Amino acid sequence: MNVLVVGGAGYIGSHTAKTLKRAGHNPVVLDNLSTGHRWAVRWGPLVEADLADKKAILQAIRDHQIEAVIHFAANAYVGESMQNPAKYFRNNVANMLNLLEAQHESGVKRIVFSSSCTTYGIPERVPISEDFPQSAISPYGESKLMGEKMLKWFGECYGLGWVALRYFNASGADPEGEIGEVHDPETHLIPLVIDAALGKRPPVRIFGTDYPTPDGTAIRDYIHVMDLADAHVRALQYLLEGGESTAFNLGTGHGHSVREVIAAVERVGGRKVPAEEAPRRAGDPPALVADPSKAHRILGWEAQYRELNQIVETAWRFAENRKQ
Ligand code: UDP
Repeated sequence: MNVLVVGGAGYIGSHTAKTLKRAGHNPVVLDNLSTGHRWAVRWGPLVEADLADKKAILQAIRDHQIEAVIHFAANAYVGESMQNPAKYFRNNVANMLNLLEAQHESGVKRIVFSSSCTTYGIPERVPISEDFPQSAISPYGESKLMGEKMLKWFGECYGLGWVALRYFNASGADPEGEIGEVHDPETHLIPLVIDAALGKRPPVRIFGTDYPTPDGTAIRDYIHVMDLADAHVRALQYLLEGGESTAFNLGTGHGHSVREVIAAVERVGGRKVPAEEAPRRAGDPPALVADPSKAHRILGWEAQYRELNQIVETAWRFAENRKQ
């Protein structure tokens, strides 16, 4: 199938393009390269275009006989979204609307959408299942929630078939080392800890040591990017087979604290990680852990990288060899 991978030059999009190709599909990447990388587009053509430009989307759909869409393109910094909410609503909501309209106008009836566990805000308890209330606490989280709502109504009104995948903490890198996580600025814990260990960045700051968790640091569910990529291919297949539009949580179901991540990097790298304690980062919930049983039940999906060490090993290898 010819699949338009919107935002396919980015972290999760590029890993999904690779996995799509391996599964026998043709990924066509549409990306404005604002945060993505040309070097990460290796498994099909790149259409350099912005979602603000609906004509360009329609043209790409026509030129490449697109049959389905996977939509990754978004701004994804919670902190930045608090400083500049308009950017998030424009890029993540208004521009997504162009994509949905272009799909409607050209009869492309299926979409898999990158959503996020941030749509749950601060959950009452963990693990989080899909029926938990969604009440985002940042413009970023809200923009993802609005994306889900647009899908729902395009489904109701026009018969669009959709799957929203609510990622927990995407992490790790392609085990073959071809692609990996490169953000600028980098705000994610695992690459920052690894770079601190490699002496490429200053000591990592542990944001909050007074959380109500066993070691006082915040807990997250780190899910390998190849497992996420696999879930997208399954979600596409599910839609093709007539599966009902719905949302899935993607996580391992196990949480790890910031200190546990640092310890894992020390084990994998065989060296001490320079770290210092710092105040909590605004808007960070104490614990986010997925209940991934719905994705298992319906998509047959399950994380293959179950150990934090395995995730860190792939990220370490990529960071060590990275030239970009
Ligand atoms: N974190 C940290 N120091 C950093 C970056 C992150 O202690 O330099 C913590 C952060 O507070 C959170 C966890 O690591 O509890 C994961 O943060 P990340 O930014 O990777 O992902 P998020 O959960 O915000 O999507």
